[in-house]
Amino acid sequence: MAGRVLWNVPCTAHRTTDGLPCNAWSVRGATVCRVHGGMAPWVRRAAAARIELLETARRMNGLRTRMRDLIEQVEQETGRWT
Ligand SMILES: [Zn+2]
Repeated sequence: MAGRVLWNVPCTAHRTTDGLPCNAWSVRGATVCRVHGGMAPWVRRAAAARIELLETARRMNGLRTRMRDLIEQVEQETGRWT
């Protein structure tokens, strides 16, 4: 559960010099690198929201696992009486 969520996303921008994809690592939570606007405030805001959503999804996943274990436990317990 601990630890930061990974963000290994290549930059989606294209180089102005030759039009080829940039492919540098994007700023964490963003889809562009720092050269291609990754440090702009609106990009940082959107990036922070994505990271938060990812962390929420991860927490929910952990809760689902715990809930599944609990359900199984209760079913085993009650299964003896019915
Ligand atoms: Zn880039």
